[in-house]
Amino acid sequence: MSLGEFELIARFFDRGPARDAILGVGDDCALLAPVQPHCVTAVSTDMLLEGRHFVATDDPETVGHRALAVNLSDLAAMGARPRAFTLALAVPQVDEAWVGGFCAGLFAIADRHGCELVGGDTTRGPATICITVFGEVPPEAALRRDAAQPDDDLWVSGTLGAAALAVHAHSEGRPRPPGDPARLRLERPEPRVALGLSLRHVARAAIDLSDGLIGDLGHILDRSRAGAEVDWSAVPVDPSLDGLPAPLRRRLALAGGDDYELLFSAAAENRSAIEAIGRRLGLPLTRIGRIVAGEGLRFHDARGRPLTVDAHGFNHFA
Ligand code: ADP
Ligand code: MG
Repeated sequence: MSLGEFELIARFFDRGPARDAILGVGDDCALLAPVQPHCVTAVSTDMLLEGRHFVATDDPETVGHRALAVNLSDLAAMGARPRAFTLALAVPQVDEAWVGGFCAGLFAIADRHGCELVGGDTTRGPATICITVFGEVPPEAALRRDAAQPDDDLWVSGTLGAAALAVHAHSEGRPRPPGDPARLRLERPEPRVALGLSLRHVARAAIDLSDGLIGDLGHILDRSRAGAEVDWSAVPVDPSLDGLPAPLRRRLALAGGDDYELLFSAAAENRSAIEAIGRRLGLPLTRIGRIVAGEGLRFHDARGRPLTVDAHGFNHFA
């Protein structure tokens, strides 16, 4: 190691006195001021392993962006406002160019969302990035997975399938070139934080789409003990999937992960409020179906004819 652990922390991770926190990097613990009145703390952790979630040759700035983006996406899906995060980092050796690039990507998105690095841990080992984010939300406004109710509309933000297309192209040995829109969707997901905040008291249940619509909607249905009907023809498939064979297009849009859009349920009386939020944020919000009593997820086409969809959500242990 050219730089020791403490030099590494001082050089890259300690950015001076904490801004939002009472005490940040440098002591035994960070001290976070109590959250806004009537708010509770929303906490979430995500881990990225080299070889599994990124490879050594990935652009480190992209890795830094993604590492925090996927965590902020969990706060967004809860309707929580980002406040702070910790970073546990293992690297096999100190590559200053890599750490510098990683920090550039990490702090750019952190600063954009007002989310402050307040502590962490640094050690030598197989490259691993573990981030824990802290956010705040009034408890009654949290967008929980168990809150969907029969007759709720089902909505999804943005478009689906582009990130999965980039993964698919890579696995077929035809990686998309740098800067390609589908590849950017995979590498630079934009957590829908502003949308999550706008959906407080408007949506009921929400989840961020990390493992694909079928799998992630399944989590809402399990937790809410309900079923759903989805109109495949209404699903906002990303234009980069145009021209693909229909089964592949459907699989990428419904079972491909990594889009980090929000899927949410809301009472029908909130339709115009949700459309207004979409216009204000410049983000398409599309109604794709509804929650029903009972269980199971059924797809149909534009004319209401049942559609068999064989795709499954991504499961790390499958
Ligand atoms: P401790 O021995 O109490 O675990 P460390 O020596 O590991 O403390 O860390 C020293 C300080 O630097 C602590 O405040 C810790 O939160 C912070 N820190 C360590 N690694 C990181 C990191 N990767 N990012 C941000 N802060 C870090
Ligand atoms: Mg430590």
